[in-house]
Amino acid sequence: MTTKAKALAVIPIVTADAGMRAFVCEVTGEEIPLPECLACSERSAPGCSMFPAYIHQIVNDPRPHDFSQRLAKAHGADFGISVTELIYCPRKFRLKMEHSWTEKPSDFYARFSGTAIHAALEDYEGAGIAEERLVATFDYRGKTILFSGKPDLVTYSDAGWLITDYKRTGWPPRSSYSYTCPKCYEVILSDITDRRGIGGANKPLYCPDCDENFTRRQVHQITHLPEAKLAHATQINLLALLLNKNEEEYASILAEKHGIAVSDASPVFSGRIVYMGPQNILPLPVEVDIESARTLLRARLTVLLRPELPPKDPLEGWECKYCPVAAQCDAAA
Ligand code: SF4
Ligand SMILES: [Zn+2]
Ligand SMILES: [Zn+2]
Repeated sequence: MTTKAKALAVIPIVTADAGMRAFVCEVTGEEIPLPECLACSERSAPGCSMFPAYIHQIVNDPRPHDFSQRLAKAHGADFGISVTELIYCPRKFRLKMEHSWTEKPSDFYARFSGTAIHAALEDYEGAGIAEERLVATFDYRGKTILFSGKPDLVTYSDAGWLITDYKRTGWPPRSSYSYTCPKCYEVILSDITDRRGIGGANKPLYCPDCDENFTRRQVHQITHLPEAKLAHATQINLLALLLNKNEEEYASILAEKHGIAVSDASPVFSGRIVYMGPQNILPLPVEVDIESARTLLRARLTVLLRPELPPKDPLEGWECKYCPVAAQCDAAA
């Protein structure tokens, strides 16, 4: 017996009443059972913009709250986690295994409008592989973990594998600008995404170091090109980690489906996020770093698979605002 052995991981269990128990009505703000909301939308509820096909799609979500645990079970693993679950708040993940919650139908709008691109990819994947779930199992502190993820599209060329993810968003990444003082070269203004905001060409810009004003024409402007958002780049890295483990299988799918031969050399991965904004489409490259994905996966599992609830420390500041278990989070804090 060794005393140095690490404690076994604690596997959280999905409780019987976990899951979305009801909608919150857009009009009355009261809880309404899912089938009743659907029936109400079919009667075209006055004052409500929800329509039946929309409600129907949410109610028949092909990814129920316990999807990852079911998938783990089907593969004989102890615990399941997906790429999407891994990139967001681990406390939310654990709370959603224990509690029930409510959401407004309109909270699903982003997900709903994102399904259009997925349907299009399923209809046409070109010479690539669309929407094919990748799974990998590995041991973690005496337990078997099933890690899974579904890249939107994977293509192959002489340059290697390319993972593409499509994101519907109202706020695609934008260029930003910073301005440096012409005398001391210190940055006097940064993170400007709308240059109109800093005023006309003659409006003075002040350098506190030189205690002097300069005009727009005198200061130096530096343009920063838009970059994929961090969570989205992380998602690509995690998908690359999965693809790396399943490379042979993907290579044989490509050979079978499209007659494409994949090189035997060790695989190279790159990524791309295609932001589908309100008015235009913006593809942004992502540099793949599989090692950082591995580190993240381990670190996140350490937090998820421990007896205590993960601390209240969301990974993205905006998460709490849209979190369906925020009340339970506060109560448990
Ligand atoms: S409220 Fe914020 S910190 Fe709490 S579980 Fe939700 S996302 Fe995480
Ligand atoms: Zn997608
Ligand atoms: Zn200066």
